[in-house]
Amino acid sequence: MCGILGYCAPQWDPSLAKFFGLQGFNLQHRGQENFGATYSNGRKFGHFKDKGMVSQVFDKTRRDEFVRRQPLIAIGQTRYATAGGTDAMSAQPHWMTLLDGFYANACNGDLPMLQQDIEELEAKGTVMLSGNDGEVILKKILHGARDHGGDLIEGIRVLMETTPGAYSGCLMTLRELYVYRDPWGFRPLYIGRWRDATVFASESCAFHERDAEIEREVLPGEVIRVDIDGGREERRLVNAGHPRQKCIFEPIYFARPDSRVYEDKKDVGLFRDQLGRQLAREYPLKDVAVVPIPDSGRFAAMGYASELGLPMRELFIRNPYIPRTFQMAGQSNREDLVRLKFTVMLSLLEEYRRFVIVDDSLVRSTTMRILIEMFLQAALGAGLKREDLQIHVRIASPPIVGCCYYGIDTPELDELAASRHSVKEIEKMIGADSLAYLSLPGLDSVAKQFDDPKNFCHACFTGNYPTPYLVRSR
Ligand code: SF4
Repeated sequence: MCGILGYCAPQWDPSLAKFFGLQGFNLQHRGQENFGATYSNGRKFGHFKDKGMVSQVFDKTRRDEFVRRQPLIAIGQTRYATAGGTDAMSAQPHWMTLLDGFYANACNGDLPMLQQDIEELEAKGTVMLSGNDGEVILKKILHGARDHGGDLIEGIRVLMETTPGAYSGCLMTLRELYVYRDPWGFRPLYIGRWRDATVFASESCAFHERDAEIEREVLPGEVIRVDIDGGREERRLVNAGHPRQKCIFEPIYFARPDSRVYEDKKDVGLFRDQLGRQLAREYPLKDVAVVPIPDSGRFAAMGYASELGLPMRELFIRNPYIPRTFQMAGQSNREDLVRLKFTVMLSLLEEYRRFVIVDDSLVRSTTMRILIEMFLQAALGAGLKREDLQIHVRIASPPIVGCCYYGIDTPELDELAASRHSVKEIEKMIGADSLAYLSLPGLDSVAKQFDDPKNFCHACFTGNYPTPYLVRSR
């Protein structure tokens, strides 16, 4: 998963640099491994990309250089590596200077047939510098354009017609910007205005700046071309003839709570609140304190507590400076990080003995198992007995039974708790007194308040994938 951002403006405004950085900060949750940008003032381009967060990579030296160049077009990406490594070569944007011009591309999502796509390009004599889907997409577009007289819109059409997958992307030349979205519409993508500039971003929270406004979502199969002379062209290149496949895991877990749920103007936080309420109706409890897993479980926990009139209390405090654990490689590393990342507020035991822990999803079950273990260790150390305590767990989404091939880095199939174990087995593994997941019809009853559930991808909950895919090998 990643975040893309950028602008195209008819004239330079020094505040554009600040706005560009702000967009990056607002999309930091979508990727914390790399940040990169390519920009052009219409005559020359500049670029940087490196490991680290926006504040580390877009440092004073790079910001000063950016401002000095006065770019009229800029594209950027916050990266969370799903294909390719975290080295600068795999980071985005990818750029190329050819005899006929300069091109750079950044995108968000994954190609489920990536290996095959790379082999096809290599068979045509293309040299690949990384194993990253952003590079594959750039090179596929350029091949397609070359076969159509250099027309980049036709190159994007060829990409869409031949390449299944999730890609919300942006392509730039020295004077033009193309913003495009795959025909399934897996990942969100918005276009809007900031003063005179056309701006775009992966999530609506990147428009939370006084002068920014969202015009609309980029449609599945659409490209929008803008240039520094004020030109604009919108074309629906492919109408896939199937329902959209908006990733339902975005509003469950990934997106910021103050972002929109795709084209619906309601917040992701409300979606999560409704999931918690539905979970409460399906699996209610009495006389318990509701405990959220911070941060993404908090809205579902609030919904659960509100629906049943229960108190909600913080039991686990999260250190915000440690990254999302499921992005880290290696099980012992992940377990250590959970222990470093959370502490237990034992003062809650002065008032409560029965708890229901609510989280948005359960992937490997590592975090939940360690948190319950940490809580019990602390409680027993304080002189309580296990039989004095009750720990129930409620998950505000159905069991995850399949990997994602569209940009969410869920682990290998055999690492997914629910792909190998029954609910009762997982309950025992995590040490809970009871465990229950939201049902799939329950999830759809919430999704229905935002759009027809058929327009959401549910593949990781059902195993029914909307496109062909190759099983991932790392
Ligand atoms: Fe989202 Fe799951 Fe579909 Fe991946 S498989 S796009 S995580 S709903």
